[in-house]
Amino acid sequence: MEALAHLRRRQIEALTAIANRSLLPAGVPLSLVAHSMRISPPSALGHLRILESMGLVTRRGGKTRLTPRGWLTFREYERHHRLAESLFASLGWKARDACRAAREIDLALTHTTVERLCDTQGHPRLCPHGRPISPCLPHRTSGR
Ligand SMILES: [Zn+2]
Ligand SMILES: [Zn+2]
Repeated sequence: MEALAHLRRRQIEALTAIANRSLLPAGVPLSLVAHSMRISPPSALGHLRILESMGLVTRRGGKTRLTPRGWLTFREYERHHRLAESLFASLGWKARDACRAAREIDLALTHTTVERLCDTQGHPRLCPHGRPISPCLPHRTSGR
């Protein structure tokens, strides 16, 4: 099964918090992850431990970094989210509303469905916010 299918919303938030601070070379301190998730450090740590057990992050000296597999999963998530956004936007919804609705379904979509969405929508290159959608690969497989 795809790593994405095992993640819960909170763990995606943690993954995103780390990915967005990837310029910190030593990794992201727990307090920053907790702050951006608006939860306590012990709660954030619980989510980081789950990500670590899945091989998506490594933790050292209280700081967390994404592994290559973590990056792959994060990029995959972005692709699911942005293609779902594009779908709602194609119904005439504003970007903000499309984003909110996309969050309700993006984790649940299988790769097969995402590829069909991409195909049906003519392989959009940008989401409604103007952020890039990575190109589709016919037989894309994330680590299992
Ligand atoms: Zn969004
Ligand atoms: Zn495509």
